[in-house]
Amino acid sequence: MGKNLFKNILVFFIVFLVVMGVFSLFNNSIAEPEEISISGVVDKIQKEEVEKIEVIGTQLTVILKNGEELKSLKEPNDTVSSLLADYDVDQSKMAAVTIEVKENSGFGFWAGAILPFLFPFLLIVAFFWFMMRQVQGANSRAMSFGKSNATDQKKDAPKKKVFFKDVAGVIEAKEELSEIIDFLKNPAKFLSLGATIPKGVLLIGSPGTGKTLLAKAVAGEASVPFFHMSGSEFVEMFVGVGASRVRDLFKKAKKAAPCIVFVDEIDAVGRQRGSGIGGSHDEREQTLNQILVEMDGFDTDTNVIVLAATNRPDILDPALLRPGRFDRRVLLDDPDLNDREAILKVHSKKKPYDDTVNLREVAERTPGLTGADLASVLNEGAILAAKQNKKTISQSDILLSIEKVMLGPERKSRVMNATEKKTIAYHEAGHALVAHVLPNSDPVHKISIISRGQAGGYTLKVPSEDKYLHTKSDFLDEMTVLMGGKVAEQEIFNEISTGPSNDLKQATQIAKKVVTQYGMSEKLGPRTYGEREELIFLGKEIHERRDYSEKTAQLIDQEVSRLLGNAYDSAKKIIKKSRRYLDKIALRLLDKETIERQEFETLLKDLKPSAA
Ligand code: ADP
Ligand code: ZN
Repeated sequence: MGKNLFKNILVFFIVFLVVMGVFSLFNNSIAEPEEISISGVVDKIQKEEVEKIEVIGTQLTVILKNGEELKSLKEPNDTVSSLLADYDVDQSKMAAVTIEVKENSGFGFWAGAILPFLFPFLLIVAFFWFMMRQVQGANSRAMSFGKSNATDQKKDAPKKKVFFKDVAGVIEAKEELSEIIDFLKNPAKFLSLGATIPKGVLLIGSPGTGKTLLAKAVAGEASVPFFHMSGSEFVEMFVGVGASRVRDLFKKAKKAAPCIVFVDEIDAVGRQRGSGIGGSHDEREQTLNQILVEMDGFDTDTNVIVLAATNRPDILDPALLRPGRFDRRVLLDDPDLNDREAILKVHSKKKPYDDTVNLREVAERTPGLTGADLASVLNEGAILAAKQNKKTISQSDILLSIEKVMLGPERKSRVMNATEKKTIAYHEAGHALVAHVLPNSDPVHKISIISRGQAGGYTLKVPSEDKYLHTKSDFLDEMTVLMGGKVAEQEIFNEISTGPSNDLKQATQIAKKVVTQYGMSEKLGPRTYGEREELIFLGKEIHERRDYSEKTAQLIDQEVSRLLGNAYDSAKKIIKKSRRYLDKIALRLLDKETIERQEFETLLKDLKPSAA
């Protein structure tokens, strides 16, 4: 935009110069007559040199007998004859002069009179106009406040259209939505049987699970326009703007019916009303009310279906969920192993892979990643391969990208001194060794002492299959593995470093949950402690209300500490017993910085799991 402004000013300046040039040419082409005073004119008449005097307003043009032209000015109220009489010009000499009085008009006169004033004025106006256009271009949002900037997918290139085949996994969700597609395609079939049309569908799933993608796919399959709008866009600085945007969006949608309106992040406007503390939530409430009004106002045959996405269905205003509004809910789970493989397949199209690539292995290594994460893993892999000027992408590129997406980019620039490096190597070796020995811990896939994101080093454990249920032993082993790092440091250096790790915090959280939420502690018995309540106005903040006595609180503290202590002791036992292997792993790490699963297992092949 800066470039544009500069260009416009330049053009403007050139035009200005040209106009000025033309003007001065024009002015010069008329030889300016000499100007003389009235007494000069009188003098010339006395000498009988004057042929004719033309009078236009106050201007006198004196034409001499020799053809010369002179100019003079008189006062507006005097006539030429009375003026000459005042100067005592001889009657005879006056009679010899023709006096011609001309009308004070004609384009020339007006142009001559006004242009000198008008021209600079016009210039200024033009200049401001140019500036305004620039500002508007940059800031057109400000000029279209109340307008929704919902976009219509149909206007996009057709190749941007999305279909169900582009959405991997989420089979149940697709099944539920196929009814909506059927309806959009063929409303008469439903209406003739007196069925009411669903108006709103709530898509529930964590960020990146493909809610937007799925909504687009519904529009694509039904080949209807798709209007996309995000809840946070509705919430503007000025009260009333959100509501007017909603009105505008639905007006557009009704015109384009049948169509899909997709409201992303509906929780941004659809939180429970009236829970605002400190500061007004008028804007949100008005926006939400407007959405409800619009949805209620649909006629039975209005073919507009509103899909809304959220990852927090629990905080939505109940009014949104009432029949006739968002009464259908479609759940998008985090992808499991098979889904992840399918998603990877969708995104691996058009990417040239060599034959080392094994997407199943990638899927196995990526539990907990969403569709969006997986897409970016494959993208990072392609970037990595391109950086090395390769023609194809290999498995190693993709595997490296997984860690980048999970933990942040490698920070090779971070210089560690020898002691720090050794500390981190032993710390990670401790985690890995304990994880290898304990039967309920996930297998170690990779150990590294290259710092990444926040972590100084890391041990990557990956479950061999997706787990939905966890046992008490799983939790206890997990806590022991987390302690492994600190224990190893203590054993080797007789000292514990701060280390950029939150092992202890994680272990403590697990212990607390085991005791207070899962009822897994014998001492405290099978019940939950503490009512977890979300403070709606703070969004994510979790507030815990105590529903137990002070005495029980002490018991809980004791129990948590006992579990953590036990975990520390068992980690210590394992590491003491297999100290030889700890050294082996740490030395290899110091040498190579990373150890992959196979190498790790060869390194520990004499050490049977559960040998502790
Ligand atoms: P959400 O709206 O749930 O936050 P998106 O629909 O915006 O997530 O997903 C972001 C991106 O992740 C999509 O554009 C797509 O590339 C990828 N993605 C997510 N889920 C899937 C899926 N099930 N199949 C294929 N790609 C997916
Ligand atoms: Zn650690």
